[in-house]
Amino acid sequence: MTSSAQSAALRAAAMEMAGRGWKVFPCRPGSKAALWHRQEHCRGGGVCADGHVTPESLATSDVERVAARWSDGVAYNIAVYPGPSGLFILDCDIPKAARPGQPPARGEHDPDGWTQLQALAGQRGGPLPDTFTLATPSGGRQLWFTAPPGTLLRGTVKHVATNIDSRGWGTYGLAPGCVLLNGAYELIDDTDPVELPGWLVQANVERASGAISGRPEKPVAAPDAYTARAVRAECDRVASEPPGRRNKVLSTAAYALGQLVGAEVLDREHARAELETAVAAWNTPASWAKDTGVIATSLAAGEGNPRRINRRGPGRAA
Ligand SMILES: [Zn+2]
Repeated sequence: MTSSAQSAALRAAAMEMAGRGWKVFPCRPGSKAALWHRQEHCRGGGVCADGHVTPESLATSDVERVAARWSDGVAYNIAVYPGPSGLFILDCDIPKAARPGQPPARGEHDPDGWTQLQALAGQRGGPLPDTFTLATPSGGRQLWFTAPPGTLLRGTVKHVATNIDSRGWGTYGLAPGCVLLNGAYELIDDTDPVELPGWLVQANVERASGAISGRPEKPVAAPDAYTARAVRAECDRVASEPPGRRNKVLSTAAYALGQLVGAEVLDREHARAELETAVAAWNTPASWAKDTGVIATSLAAGEGNPRRINRRGPGRAA
């Protein structure tokens, strides 16, 4: 496809998404990255004058504004924000190998996410109805549902199963027609999204441990007693922090846990899930995006400065 044909196709796709009432925001051409600065790079100008504003809150379903935004001939990809759109997306991925030099990836040796989802439906006696479905460039598939009224579901990572992520408040999915270097997102079932079945609401919100009977946690995700206590202590500190110093306390806790991830005694996704659970008590949809950003940034920073672990003593390292 020529680049002008591609930008026209993406413009039409963005208008189609907005026409459905879904909130969209442009991404860099050929990329999943939203065309916006991250909170840690916010200079406080423009719409961020009173504090950083997220693309989730800027995303729009105003078809005219979308048409105008996609009118400069650039092939912007399209982020669809499930939270404000009343949607919820299950992302069933294929197992991914760990990057060289990194600890094993959770789910690396497990079935693909779609197989896991079907197995989970069988175990729980849940329906898995036909719904709006995309094939992703990596070979996975994404099932788009409407969020049940009254729910406020956040995105999760490897929580429903090791090869299933979900996209809710605080996260986004790419629209059908979006193009990455390794292929395009293709609509393979154009059924209008149906409501997320109750058993999947449950699977998304319940705590991971013991969530799925007969499927033990992978050892890499299960920290030893010392590490588990450290995780508990940091998360308790975060959860009990009154407003005011939350950002500082959260970034300190995430940095400390990142250091344990860097020392290879703690799984990154486990740390992230625990911290996200800890801040869930504070959250509003707007703060969720900010908090998850702080968690990701501080975890990564801590990971770059691994904690030296004294294996002999059970006591808290100084
Ligand atoms: Zn900003």
